[in-house]
Amino acid sequence: MFKTYDVLTDRLLDGAALDRGEALDVLATPDEEVLHLVAAAGRLRRAHFGDTVKVNYLVNLRSGLCPEDCGYCSQRLGSTADILTYSWLPTADAVRQASAGIQGGASRVCLVASGRGPGDRDVERVAGIVDELRTEHPGVEVCACLGLLRDGQAERLREAGVDAYNHNLNTAESRYADICSTHTYDDRVDTVAKAQAAGLSPCSGLIVGMGETDDELVDALFALRELGSDSIPVNFLMPFDGTPLAGTWLLDPLRCLRILALARMVAPATEVRMAGGREQHLRSLQPLALHVVNSLFLGDYLTSEGQTAEQDLQMIADAGFTVLGAEPRAGSDAGSTAEQTAIRLRGAGTTQAPNA
Ligand code: SF4
Repeated sequence: MFKTYDVLTDRLLDGAALDRGEALDVLATPDEEVLHLVAAAGRLRRAHFGDTVKVNYLVNLRSGLCPEDCGYCSQRLGSTADILTYSWLPTADAVRQASAGIQGGASRVCLVASGRGPGDRDVERVAGIVDELRTEHPGVEVCACLGLLRDGQAERLREAGVDAYNHNLNTAESRYADICSTHTYDDRVDTVAKAQAAGLSPCSGLIVGMGETDDELVDALFALRELGSDSIPVNFLMPFDGTPLAGTWLLDPLRCLRILALARMVAPATEVRMAGGREQHLRSLQPLALHVVNSLFLGDYLTSEGQTAEQDLQMIADAGFTVLGAEPRAGSDAGSTAEQTAIRLRGAGTTQAPNA
């Protein structure tokens, strides 16, 4: 057991690696000490990323209609979740959607498609989208997330100008079969390795809140460290009606902070992203999480709506952080979108219902 979170952080800043016992202790942090944990993880975050927040933007190129059966996914085989379903977006639409995210402050666009993995024609389709996107936005980073890759596809994506490839390990190897029967944990590791070998920056993360134990969570994060993921998105399960995990609400905001702090301490210099489900699970503690993570998705997710992009950017500014790649804010109140004070016209003295 480490003496204090600060002692632990000092050790990690000196280059030590978090061990399993320490990781389990982090997850067991009592509620009243979570702020100390956040502060300690925040020192690592600031040491490696300063006050910047990387803003990423998702474009779902193909939604739903997937033949795989990942239990957490609203796009899975047999899902009756009431989501948008469509086949590949035309290139011009995909570029238009991506451009909106870039104009909103995103420095990375994540081009995602449902399915087991792309055919070679799909890879060419994505290559065409990347080509157009690069013409309009030469400096933007592009991440592709197209499922399991076959030999040669990662190289083609790299050649087409894709910078990164996302494929999440999602959970511990020991429980992978519980969440998916149509592909394996090893399949996923193989795709991350293919991406890495082709020179794509590997982005691989987790979905938490699926009933994993602390040991399994530590296994999953240590596996990501071992794999050399450059970017770790931490998703919080959104238990869609119409999927096997519907009604699974196992997280609370303090637990989410412990998990994010653990991710930061396992991989101090790696991009850690608070990803899907942050609004529902971190709730009012999202700004605190910014002291631990250095990355988020702007606006909406693949099949669900997030808080507005404007609220995301305001949250970043209010917490004292800056969007990576954005112009520095001019003046102390720049970026403020403070709303007019609304005059109370309900409750006492009115015939309208009170706000309670
Ligand atoms: S996570 Fe991907 S592969 Fe699994 S069901 Fe959803 S879209 Fe299909």
